[in-house]
Parts: sequence; structure tokens; C-alpha cells
Amino acid sequence: MNYFMPHSPAESSRPLAITTVPSPRPHISLVAPCYNEEAVLPELYQRCTRTLTEVTGGDYELILINDGSTDATWPMIHKLAEGDPHLVGVDLSRNFGHQRALTAGLSMARGEAIFVIDADLQDPPELLGEMLRLLNSGADVVYGQRLSREAESRFKRWSAAAFYRLLAWLSEVDIPHDTGDFRLMRRPVVEALLAMPEYHRFVRGMVAWLGFKQLPLRYHREKRFAGVTKYPLRRMLRLAADAITSFSIAPLRVSTYFGFLFSGFALLSLFYILGSWLFFNAAPGWTSLMVLTAIIGGVQLIAVGIMGEYLGRIYLEVKRRPNFIIREITSVHPLTPSSGGENGDGG
Ligand code: UDP
Ligand code: MG
Repeated sequence: MNYFMPHSPAESSRPLAITTVPSPRPHISLVAPCYNEEAVLPELYQRCTRTLTEVTGGDYELILINDGSTDATWPMIHKLAEGDPHLVGVDLSRNFGHQRALTAGLSMARGEAIFVIDADLQDPPELLGEMLRLLNSGADVVYGQRLSREAESRFKRWSAAAFYRLLAWLSEVDIPHDTGDFRLMRRPVVEALLAMPEYHRFVRGMVAWLGFKQLPLRYHREKRFAGVTKYPLRRMLRLAADAITSFSIAPLRVSTYFGFLFSGFALLSLFYILGSWLFFNAAPGWTSLMVLTAIIGGVQLIAVGIMGEYLGRIYLEVKRRPNFIIREITSVHPLTPSSGGENGDGG
């Protein structure tokens, strides 16, 4: 659940506290989550503003979400917003992580189409025009698919390739390979996405799950413009675990497979044990016993661990905590009541 859940029944049945008249929908909303991105922010702002102005003729909003940065990201966004009515700065109350920061941005977006990019300019905002053409050719979602990732480390490329293939094998939803969150979505898709309340969010997988008509746009992924990656190995593993547990229960079945395997093995060894008891002098067999105990112990611990991963996630889901909490919104034009305001559910 979002703190500002745009279409929750509770929200719509309650009288709205905001009385301002909502401004009409802009053509495009650009959403970029930012975590310690002070080094890229000026360039990001400039390139996005230029492209958006060119493509929409000025009918756009630029939403920058500060995901609990510890550098000057928020003061910079705030300052830019003071001089630009197109810019909506959203400050989260702490670091909620990329996927939840992105969700916060999507819940603020009012545009007819919503364009998502990474703040570090690895996904060129200039591709908006092309994506819009594809969208207008009859698609609901146009997602960026990476043709090359030369700019990224060999380890990152290798691990990403392995991860997407494993995910495809494990899950029933066709999640396109080599994509990120770089995409242009029509408003109904975003609204459907926001209606999915889960806490563990793997947004690109959720969009794939939604269906609709989705088209790829192949592009070359660039180097980070400045700063360092905000996805160290630990976070990458967490995203991968969220993706797999959100989209597949196959790992839970692993213990069943191993159970059958070892039962078969035990049955075969039963013949051997009986045979040696009947026809030979049964040797003490300490070694085989130890090996079997160790293997079965290991497999059991893995199975219990996998169940623990799911159980922990179920625990976090049932608490139904908000996905993010907004501390401040800078906006000179009134926001539509459905997309925010300081009078959320509380929380
Ligand atoms: N990001 C975020 N919160 C986080 C981590 C990352 O909002 O806790 C943002 C980050 O500012 C960037 C995007 O998510 O806009 C992707 O992060 P990054 O470029 O560091 O990841 P990489 O491209 O190296 O996978
Ligand atoms: Mg990046």
C-alpha cells in the first residue's frame, strides 16, 4: 500500500480536504528516482527539460524523487523547483530503495503517458520521441531493451544475463530480458500498476505481469554520467531475491524434488543393506553414514532457508505498511487530489 494510495476505496469514500481545482493532465510525466545523485542532477535536469520541451511543446511535468539522499540532492531539486513550474520535487522521509522510490514517483504522476528513467542518464532521455512514436503506433507500454552494455562491468553484464535467464525459467510471466525500468507507459497501465499493493516490488516484472500491448525499443546503454552505482552487490542480490520470490514459487518445490530423489536413493540402498546383511559380513559403514547424514542435513537446511525467505516476505506483506512515506512535495501548481496532498491515510 502506498502512503498516498491514489485510488484506495478508503480515500474515495472520504470527503476530500483539498479544494483546489485540479489542473488538466499534462501530456507526459517524466519520473526519475534519485539517490545521492548531486553530481548528475544539473545535467539530468537540462537534458530532460530540453527533450520534454521539444517533444511536448511544454506540456509536461518532471517528477524527481529524492530517495533519502545524504548529499545535496534534495536542496538542489528544491532550488530547481522554485524556478520551474514544470518540476515537481518529492522528498521521501528516508531511503526506501529504488523500486519504492519509483512507485512514489508514479503515484504522483498526472500525465497521459509516464516516462521512467534512471537519474544517472544511462538511459538517454532523448529516446522519448521515438518511444512516443511507438506508443502512438498502438502500444500501451514501450520498454527499453539493452542492445549493449559495454559501459558496464563484465561481472554486472554476466550476472544480469544469468539472472534474467533464471527468472525466465522459474516464472510463468514472460519478463523481457535485458530491460530496466526505462519505459514509457500509458496512464491506464500505471494506474493498474499502482493498484498492485505488494511491498516487495520488482516493477519491471509487475509491468510485464499486467499484460497490455508492450513493445521493445532497442537501445545502447550508456555509462553512468557521474557518481557511482547505487546498486552494490548486496542490493543487486536483494532485488534478484525479490524478483524471484515475487514471480515464482518454484524454489519452494525444490525440497520436494530433493525429497523424492533421496527417497529413491534410500530405497536402492535398502536392497544393498539387506543384501550385505544376508550374504556378507556387514561392515560398520561409518563413512557412508556420515556422508549421507551430511548431505541430507545440508539439503534440509537449504529447504528450510528457502521457506524462511518466503515466510519472511509473507510477514512483511501482511503488515501492510505503506510502500513509502512522503515528507515534502514542491509544487507551484495544485496537485490533483487523487495523486497526493498532505492528507493521506496517515501512517
Ligand atoms: N536509486 C534510488 N534509491 C536507491 C538506489 C538507487 O532511488 O536506494 C536510484 C538511483 O539514483 C538511480 C537508479 O535508482 O536513478 C538506478 O541506480 P543505479 O544507476 O545506481 O543502478 P545501476 O544502473 O548501477 O544498476
Ligand atoms: Mg545506473
